[in-house]
Amino acid sequence: MSAGTENAASEVILIQDTRMEVLISEDAIQNRLKAMAAEINAQYKDSQNLVVIAVLKGAFLFLADLVRYITVPCEIEFVRLSSYGNQMHSSGQVRPVDLSLPNLADRDVLIVEDIVDTGLTMQFFTEYLRSLHHTRSLRLAVLLDKPEARKPEAKELVLDFVGFTVGNDFMVGYGLDKAGLCRNLPFVARVIQ
Ligand code: 5GP
Repeated sequence: MSAGTENAASEVILIQDTRMEVLISEDAIQNRLKAMAAEINAQYKDSQNLVVIAVLKGAFLFLADLVRYITVPCEIEFVRLSSYGNQMHSSGQVRPVDLSLPNLADRDVLIVEDIVDTGLTMQFFTEYLRSLHHTRSLRLAVLLDKPEARKPEAKELVLDFVGFTVGNDFMVGYGLDKAGLCRNLPFVARVIQ
């Protein structure tokens, strides 16, 4: 299940040198995360060995808030992948910066990612996990899904838990950056060029 964004036009604001329009408020994010966590808690209610893997840097706030609503026992791991560099469009090249993980054999694995755009990053990472680790299950929770940007190479990618479906714009805030800035904003905004 996912929620669309209400598209009531909001004002253009200038923060950290970026013109933007708030798309998803802090309250809307928190309400949606509670509902997502309820779905996740139901999915893993019988799991004894859930591992949540957050993809840095963008997922740090999403992870921190989501896991506080998750009530099933879980371990938390981090990987760092990069595909945008300082640009506002995907380079198409996924750069694994840090993929160190414990043995995930027979574990229930939930990947937590900020946004799926072309899908190439998650396509790479799910294939990497499947080829190296015999997990018991592998699912994906994403805050934002940009389906219009999906590349054909990633069309098979399944997003199990989706926060919000958004249009094909560049998003900032709530972990998402523009050239390193704006990650600390408590809302998600669309950059206005
Ligand atoms: P994909 O491989 O699906 O194209 O993109 C995955 C990564 O690119 C995300 O984890 C995120 O770091 C970055 N990304 C994709 N779309 C956006 C966006 O709209 N805003 C920002 N700030 N980063 C994005």
